[in-house]
Amino acid sequence: MKYLFLILVVLLVIWALKRGRAANKSKPSEPAKSQAPSEMITCAHCGIHLPNDEAVSGQKGLYCSTEHRTAAQDRNPD
Ligand SMILES: [Zn+2]
Repeated sequence: MKYLFLILVVLLVIWALKRGRAANKSKPSEPAKSQAPSEMITCAHCGIHLPNDEAVSGQKGLYCSTEHRTAAQDRNPD
């Protein structure tokens, strides 16, 4: 009974994989390229690279987090 369940799971996985491949063939869309890659910036405190839309802006520069903006003794420009 244990093995029957295992075989059923394996069959389900194979069926799901086949289904996924068929869907990919019928729909040649490229979701990765449709989104424009955001510009990479460097954190002024630790030097890590991160997307511009995730950056925290300060009066002196851009940071990876509010913690690093505070650590660099910078403040929100607003
Ligand atoms: Zn940082």
